Parts: sequence; structure tokens; C-alpha cells
Amino acid sequence: MRNLKTPIKSINKIAEKLAPKFKKLGLETIQDLLFYYPYRYDDYSNLLKIKDLQPGVLSTIQVKIELIESRRSFRKRMMLTESVVADETGKLKIIWFNQRFIIKMLSHGDEIYISGKPILTDAGLEFHNPNFEKIGKYDKATMHTNRLVPVYSSTEKLSQKQIRFILKTILVCAQQISEWLPKEIIEKEKLLPLSQAVHQIHFPINKENLKHAKRRLKFDEIFLLQMRAGIIKKELLKFKSFVINFKEKQTKNFVNNLPFKMTQAQKKSAWEIIQDLEKNQPMNRLLEGDVGSGKTITAALAILNTLLNKFQVAYMAPTEILAHQHFNSFCEIFKDYDFNIALLTRSESKINSKKNIKKTDLIKKIKNQEIDFVIGTHALIQNKIEFKNLAFVIIDEQHRFGVGQRKMLKQKSEKNSQPHLLSMTATPIPRSLALTLYGELDLSVINEMPKNRKPIITKIINMENRAKTYEFIKSEIAKDKQIFVVCPLIDPSDKLGSKAVKEEFEKLDKKIFPKIKIELLHGKLKSDEKEKIMQNFVNNKTKILVSTTVIEVGIDVPNATIIMIESAERFGLAQLHQLRGRVGRAEHQSYCFLFTESDNEQVFKRLHAVVESKNGFELAEKDLEFRGPGEVYGIKQSGYNDMLKIATLMDWPIIKSTKPWVDKILNSDPELKNNLNIKNKLTDFETSIHFE
Ligand code: ADP
Ligand code: MG
Repeated sequence: MRNLKTPIKSINKIAEKLAPKFKKLGLETIQDLLFYYPYRYDDYSNLLKIKDLQPGVLSTIQVKIELIESRRSFRKRMMLTESVVADETGKLKIIWFNQRFIIKMLSHGDEIYISGKPILTDAGLEFHNPNFEKIGKYDKATMHTNRLVPVYSSTEKLSQKQIRFILKTILVCAQQISEWLPKEIIEKEKLLPLSQAVHQIHFPINKENLKHAKRRLKFDEIFLLQMRAGIIKKELLKFKSFVINFKEKQTKNFVNNLPFKMTQAQKKSAWEIIQDLEKNQPMNRLLEGDVGSGKTITAALAILNTLLNKFQVAYMAPTEILAHQHFNSFCEIFKDYDFNIALLTRSESKINSKKNIKKTDLIKKIKNQEIDFVIGTHALIQNKIEFKNLAFVIIDEQHRFGVGQRKMLKQKSEKNSQPHLLSMTATPIPRSLALTLYGELDLSVINEMPKNRKPIITKIINMENRAKTYEFIKSEIAKDKQIFVVCPLIDPSDKLGSKAVKEEFEKLDKKIFPKIKIELLHGKLKSDEKEKIMQNFVNNKTKILVSTTVIEVGIDVPNATIIMIESAERFGLAQLHQLRGRVGRAEHQSYCFLFTESDNEQVFKRLHAVVESKNGFELAEKDLEFRGPGEVYGIKQSGYNDMLKIATLMDWPIIKSTKPWVDKILNSDPELKNNLNIKNKLTDFETSIHFE
């Protein structure tokens, strides 16, 4: 008797042969197979008579083979299998190319289903390489035609027909899947029982059933995700944290001495953070704000308060270049205070502004709290660096928020005390989405740009306009402005033919701008070289910085007014928006030039979306149209995508309907003691998706 735990190899002879291939897809048992959902369906349910076929319309016909033969085409060395089929309304020709096995499977007189898109040829309508399925004498059930046909993601070696065949064989086992959701939820939400949903997701009887099956399975995923977030949030409440008193006078003073006026949104977010810090429970907050909206200074207010309370702060940047930049700017921001500030990355260790220090000495000083504020890369939490009094941790522009870092930080802080945690991101996650899916995080949003900014003018530049654009760049440099040039890859050897950064550098340096000081920056340089190059650019000694995407995130050189991006089509929209954010960071009019030699319409549309959209949210929406919900802008990097097999972050109605249930259960039974089914399911869910 087969059950859910039965290994695929023991299903039957065919499955035994295929088992290693299924294993490559991570599937070993019947249960694995059942929860391996199709990623799409071919709608072959449109059963027509031959006379009603329309060219190009996906359809199915039920026909009898009148003639079938194979021959070699004489021009190309191809094997053609040609057949004439008929129903009571007409006849039709079918051609299969290079599918030798077909002549062995089908013969004169067979009744078959044919599914595909007929095409119009000089000889009339024909099917080329359609799907087919023999109609058995007794069994009329179909797997590959005449229905909604599941399509699975697979490898070359494992065909759709093979996967469908095995799934069909074991589909009855879906009955054994036990229900885990409380009855009340199933009834009130009108959900299909899980076993039925799994059955229907593979071989749906019709679209209506498929819709119900999908809804149920999505409901499960989102419910579990929210459950997990809710539990983490509750668990965090068990920890103590450091109470950081709000130093009102000093904070006001600090704000008044800034060279600019903070925006309302910055103040509000800073206030939300500061209020959290006053509690004796760890903050777990996400600060979201578009590129250039001024997240750093917002965080600085909270850092100031922590330092004034004599606690330690750690700030983690995604790259060494950025860590260095932040180190410099924080030294500047806090120059009137006697805080001890340090930089610690894989290759650098410095204290207060410029002074180098031996890494081991710095680590000792951190441990003794001779250092108040450490800026570093994310490596800071991975290495064994001990703090004496670490009360506040800021994680800048890392796409995975919260949970993982928390786990790592835990080892570094004392017993039951956890530092406050602030993640900062420019990834535009809609508020309602963040609240439901990242429910363990509180959210602050900077939804307004500093007043002094002019919208960046973005243009697509083709071959013809290159020279003109170079002239414009020269004129900007004549006005003492600076330019970023970004190229996709380092070496000219790359097969994709994208502009290589070294090649581009040579060209610009020798031919186009021979009189202008240009430097080249890329990830393979040593970090002191990188630092020098960056510093030359920051100090306006270099006018043009040719670079790979190492400058993508965070780099702040307000005097740069142009970013030109070579082979712009090679970048994702989120990336282009981040890159564009390197300019327009002060009052000067800034420009983003998207160079492309492609004349592909799709490329143009995508780049045009960057031209049109002035902020990340708008662009995210456009990106959704191009790529579909599975790959929503920026969200992919957030890591939450891997957790959703079938639900997408766009499933609003479901996201909304699960939330009250999750809250209700957690409020009355926070440890799920009376909801063991849910608890077990959650454990399975967590192990199946490998949280960080
Ligand atoms: P991001 O949110 O992308 O991290 P930054 O914090 O680097 O942005 O800020 C971008 C630039 O804007 C910096 O040069 C910063 O000094 C400046 N800035 C921040 N807030 C304001 C403001 N309210 N008015 C004017 N300039 C500001
Ligand atoms: Mg930033």
C-alpha cells in the first residue's frame, strides 16, 4: 500500500528509473511529488471540431488517424512524421519534426486527441508538433491533452509527460494528506480541504476548480508566513533591551546645526525610532525610503541618543567602499562630540577620522568600550567581535531583514539583553505588504524627498546621440560637475558583448576626454586603491569615475550630476534606479543617460519605464507588468520569494484574509499549545524553506 512517505522509486518500474532525475529536483517521496505544484497550465480544454478551428488559437480535437508515415526530408536532414487525421467535419494534416518515436506509438485507425495551435499554410490548416494522446479503449482520462494540462518546472532529462504520468499514478494518495487548518477557518473562508486542493492543483477538472485549489494552497503559505512572523515578534518581547533616554536638548541642537532642514518624514521616522529605543524591549524596525531620501541622517539622530547614553553602536554597510564613506561622514557629523568612532572591515581598521590602528588592538578597544561607535561591513556581525555594551545595531541596505542578523547578534550580547535593531532599505515594499509579511518588523517610511532636489532627467541614448552626449558631459565638467560612468562587467572577454569597464575606461581616457582626469574603479582592486580612487572623486580631484556596479548602493557624492550607464539593458530596473540615485543628491540639476545599442522593443520599453518613473514605487509597479508577480522588483532579493511556492506578494485578498485568523490564534494561544497541527505544520514549513 502506497502512502505519503513511499519513495518515488518504489511506485513502479518507470518511477524506479526516473527516481534519480526526480531527486535532482529535490523530490524523493510521494508527498514531495504531491506538493510539487505546476508552475503553469496549458489550456487544452477547448475541444473543437476540425471545421471550427482557427489559426493560432490553442485548441484540442478528437480525431481518427487515416494515414501516418515517416520520411526523411530531403533538403534538411530531418525526420518528418506526417499524418492525416479526420473527424466528422473534416480532415487535417499534422507534421511532427524529428520525433522518431511517434511512428512507433501511433498507427492507422487510432483515435487520438491533438492539442496545440493550428497554423495556416498554403495547404490549409495544419498542426506542427502538437501534443497528442491516444484514447484508450476503456480509460478516457487524459493527462496531456483535452484538459487543463499541468506544466512543471523540470530539467532537460525529465519530460513533462513523464512527470505527469507519475503524478497521475500517485494522485489518489492525495486523499491521505491530513488537514491541519482548524475547521472554523476552512468553513468561514470557504476553503477546499487540503487533500482536494492538492489533487486539483495537478489535474484540475476546470478553471473554477483550479482557482479554488490555488486559493487554498496560497492561503496555507501566507498563513504560515504570518504565523511565523507573529511568533518571532512575540518571542522578541521576552527579551530585555537597553533603555536609551531621549536627550531632547542635544538632539534639537544637533538638528538645528545641520546644513539642511530635515524633511517632515525624516523627523517622523527618527522620532519613531527614538521612541522605540526608550523601551526596555528590543526594537525591530525597518526604515524604508527611496534612494537619496536621507536615511543616514535619520539614523544618526538615534545613534546620537544612544551614544549620549554611553552605549555602543554598530553600523553595517553592504560594501567596504560604503562603510568607508559612512565612517567619513559620521566622523564629520559627530565632529563636535567626543565620541570614539571606528572603521572595521576585512581590510581596514581606523579610529577617529584617519588614524590607522592594528585590527587586534581595535577589537580589544571595542571589547573595553574604548570605542563607542563601529562602522563596518556585514562581516562585523559574522566575525567574533565582542562588545561591552552594544545597544543599537543598524543594518544598511541589506536585502534580508531582521531575523538572520538577530540570530547572529544574539551570541554577542549579554544573557537576555538584545540590542535594538534597525534595518534600512530603499526596496519599495508596500506598507500593507510589509506589515503582513514582514510582520515581525515595525515599519517607518520616509516618503518624501529633501526639498532641494530637482527631478533627475533621464534619457535613453542610442548610437547616433553618443557624440552629442559626450559634448554635453564636457560642458558639465566645465561647470565643475562630476560624472559617473557605469559598465556591466570587468573584462572584455565576456561573451555577452556588454561594455567592459576597462575597455570603456581606455576609450574615454585616451580618445573622448583626453584632457579630463578620469579614474577606474572596480571590485577587483585592492581596498586601499579603491579607497584612494573614491577619495579622489569625493574631493573632486577626478572628474569622471568609470566603475562597475560597486557604486550601486549608497555612494554619496553630491557634486556628481551625471551618471551614464553603458549597456543599460543589461541591468535590472531596480538596479538602474539605485544607480540613478547616485546623482541628484543635492540642489543641482542632474542627469541619467541610459546608453544602449539594442533596438529590441522590449528593451526600449523597460528603459522607458526608468525614464518615466521618478521613484522606486512607480518603477516597481511597471516592473510587475513586465515580469509578472513572481519576480517583483527588489522583492526577489528580500529572500521572501523562495518561501512562497504558489502565493505571490500580490495576493492581496488572501494576505488580508489570513491576518485576522493568525492574530486571533496567537492572541489566545501564543505558543500554539492547543494548535499542535498548526505548530507541526509550521515546523515543516520552516525546515522546507531553509530560513537563512
Ligand atoms: P539614502 O536614503 O539613499 O541613504 P542619504 O542618507 O545618503 O540617502 O542622503 C542623501 C544625501 O542627501 C546626503 O548627501 C545627505 O546629506 C542629504 N540630505 C539628507 N537629508 C536631507 C535634507 N532633509 N535636505 C537636504 N539634503 C539632505
Ligand atoms: Mg544610504
